[in-house]
Amino acid sequence: MHRQQAGRWVVAVDGPSGSGKSTVSRRLAAGLGAQYLDTGAMSRAVTWAVLRDGVDPADADAVVKVAAGTEIALTTNPDNPRVRIDSTPVDAEIRGPEVTAAVSAVSAVPGVRRILVDRQREIIAAAQRIVVEGRDIGTVVAPDADLKVFLTASVDERARRRGREQGTDHAVTVADLARRDQLDSTRPAAPLQQAVDAVHLDTTELGIDEVVHRLMELVGRGKAKA
Ligand code: C5P
Repeated sequence: MHRQQAGRWVVAVDGPSGSGKSTVSRRLAAGLGAQYLDTGAMSRAVTWAVLRDGVDPADADAVVKVAAGTEIALTTNPDNPRVRIDSTPVDAEIRGPEVTAAVSAVSAVPGVRRILVDRQREIIAAAQRIVVEGRDIGTVVAPDADLKVFLTASVDERARRRGREQGTDHAVTVADLARRDQLDSTRPAAPLQQAVDAVHLDTTELGIDEVVHRLMELVGRGKAKA
């Protein structure tokens, strides 16, 4: 293990939207008695604040000012993760279509990423054991994580999952996922990318239980011991 102290570990779970990251990461954390950090929720929270303040998501300087002046508080309980911005609960609001449409633009701003990565590293450092999900956890936020996982699935399957969860139209969802994949993987600052030492799991044909089971096995093999 990289983090010398016994019993301390970080599991990084990266991948595109709809790859099953959130469900898998929460189940894994709950099953291992670990904390859980949803970094996408932090990007979404900043985006919500940008829209609240009437700031144009394309105005990088103004967006960084909002990010610097906003207090994001997260709970890291995998059974009940919560997000507050300046003390206001925003769990439902940050999943809305307005935030989803603007989040990739806001997250691509290097100054925003710096602020969020610092905060993410603080939360990770304070945790005994933690499962962290996002796009750049294994590559940038926690490059010395004890286990790195990169989850993918076909865009068609990811849209089907989103449709089952949220009742969204399939063609519209395919287009939205493809748009965000493109923005997230081609941005210059910390693009969505598999770390060289990550375990790749294509979940297109796998159920959630199977994916969680395989990750539990990797943890059990000592990649990140409980
Ligand atoms: O995971 P989720 O779909 O909620 O993430 C929303 C957006 O936040 C992503 O499309 C991406 O633009 C951004 N994000 C990021 N870095 C992370 C996590 C999320 O840029 N570590």
